[in-house]
Amino acid sequence: MDVSNQSYISPYSCYINLTSKCNLRCKHCFGGYSKEIHNELGLKDWKKVIDELVRCNIFYIVISGGEPTQSPIFKDFIGYLIKKGIYFILTTNGVFSKDIRDFIVKNRDYLISIKISLDGPDAESHGFIRLDSNEKYNSKIFDLTMDNLYFFKRKKIPLKEALKFAVYFHNEFQHIHPFEDGNSRTTRLITFHLLQSLDIPIIDIPFGLLDEYLSYTKGSKNREDIKLYQSLQKIILFNLKKINKRLSR
Ligand code: SF4
Repeated sequence: MDVSNQSYISPYSCYINLTSKCNLRCKHCFGGYSKEIHNELGLKDWKKVIDELVRCNIFYIVISGGEPTQSPIFKDFIGYLIKKGIYFILTTNGVFSKDIRDFIVKNRDYLISIKISLDGPDAESHGFIRLDSNEKYNSKIFDLTMDNLYFFKRKKIPLKEALKFAVYFHNEFQHIHPFEDGNSRTTRLITFHLLQSLDIPIIDIPFGLLDEYLSYTKGSKNREDIKLYQSLQKIILFNLKKINKRLSR
């Protein structure tokens, strides 16, 4: 793929099904994951894919499957992503070992978010849909999923890391994507969506802070990551106060 052409516009993210393997047999699944598949891409091939994504200026990828943590190259794949500076979102059924979850936490600097599937409030309802690998109801599936879910909840991604990524994304995206509107609106929309997906509220930018925000983004001759970081903090604080005010009425 030739990406040297200036008019080429690459996407900012990519969705990857790392493997078709899965440790569950959900009733709604259309993947046919009970079959053993022998010709999946190996690490060597995935490295080539990642190299290509880097060349296309991809900022983050969504890793899914099957169940991505079941891939024999899961750790190596993440390791290579990180080496290449690509962030990731992990979509999972939440049924994985302590070793895997410790690995994920260890690499949290590049983890934007983790999405764990939950299909009911208790073992009965969740397990009704999410059958085990023998296609049987198994109450342990719910317990393990909840255990892992609460584990990540306790290990919350600090606001600092989420903001750091948002700033990086904002300034990278704004300069490489020549949209007709000058990129600003599109960049702002995606950045705020990213933050909101991490439960960080940004509803609007107040007039008092709008000029400052623009001066560190659209109006800036030089890249101002640290100042934009501080400006976003003020905007988030403003939005938090606004929400609090509305809730206390
Ligand atoms: S966890 Fe996902 S991939 Fe696995 S069987 Fe269920 S729906 Fe399919």
